[in-house]
Amino acid sequence: MSTIHCRIMTPHGVYKEMDTEIINIETNEGQRGILPEHMPLVTMLKVGKMSTIENGQREEYAVSGGMFYFRENKAEILTDAIEGKSEIDLERAIAAKERAERRLAQKKPNLDVQRAEIALARALNRISVYGKQI
Ligand code: ATP
Repeated sequence: MSTIHCRIMTPHGVYKEMDTEIINIETNEGQRGILPEHMPLVTMLKVGKMSTIENGQREEYAVSGGMFYFRENKAEILTDAIEGKSEIDLERAIAAKERAERRLAQKKPNLDVQRAEIALARALNRISVYGKQI
């Protein structure tokens, strides 16, 4: 089985390096499934889910947007934040969701609406990847 070598970078450094049979990502143009031998690709990632098959096992991640590069069976993901499903702190994500919703509902004059909306999207994405229905 041929695989893709994938390296995931965050501002903290290398988050993970692994081999995967497929990379399912959410790009600005929609969902993409990247298989080995895919043509070269550079695309923007949305706040969304990513899934892979590593050592025969499906893995899921919450990705906080970023860039995806693919060339010659090597993928590189640059993102502000990423968590594997088992790394997600559900309570923290729920608290972040409620905080963002409260800010958006209060509509104070100095509110940075876009920032609050992105924070809400990150929180909802984490809750969704965790597997909680809300
Ligand atoms: P919070 O308001 O709870 O900090 P946030 O969306 O502002 O959430 P980020 O700036 O996206 O947080 O991420 C900061 C760091 O904290 C990153 O390393 C990210 O992986 C981690 N992180 C954020 N929320 C969670 C969570 N619910 N579970 C696990 N790690 C998280």
